[in-house]
Amino acid sequence: MTMGQTAISSMQTEVERKANVNLDTCMQCGCCTGGCSGIEAMDFSPRQIIQLIKMDEWAVLLNSRTIWMCVSCHICEDRCPARIKISSVMDALRAIAYSQPTAEPNKQIHFHNLFLGQVKTFGRTHEGLLMMSYSLKAKTPLPPMRLIIDYLRRLRVDMKPPHMLGKAYRFTIKKAQEGGKDHGA
Ligand code: SF4
Ligand code: SF4
Repeated sequence: MTMGQTAISSMQTEVERKANVNLDTCMQCGCCTGGCSGIEAMDFSPRQIIQLIKMDEWAVLLNSRTIWMCVSCHICEDRCPARIKISSVMDALRAIAYSQPTAEPNKQIHFHNLFLGQVKTFGRTHEGLLMMSYSLKAKTPLPPMRLIIDYLRRLRVDMKPPHMLGKAYRFTIKKAQEGGKDHGA
């Protein structure tokens, strides 16, 4: 390495490969953060996430809430002067976090698994079932009984049994899984 050159972190190489982006073009302007739809729920802003990748902060990134709170709305990408595909960066980080053999499954990963499991099985999520299974899996308390009764009374949570999907849907899911093995789930 010559003077003036910066070492590219292994995390940067991995994310750039998976997301097909060049993070060296990020100028840390913060335009992505300014328009981010999920910023209120994040612990690090999208701008900080890019910087943490370059600093090779694996543990911080893979335990970060941000990567699970990104809703892939692409607003950041529309605003980014460098046209960095930030939602693809978040996808890559989720896939890396998901595939870490030593990673302690956190609440976000539990939710991710349950959510995807229901979409694969029913073609959509079933709110009542998702709420109960998440509560059991992540050992979090259910909402207070008066709220549950209120949800049910106002039909805010669908408690009807989920319908099962046909062969064509299961075939589509199988094909999607075969084509998306590199993305963890
Ligand atoms: S908007 Fe683009 S260039 Fe600016 S900080 Fe975000 S990722 Fe980097
Ligand atoms: S794609 Fe993710 S990071 Fe970008 S604005 Fe939407 S929520 Fe924020």
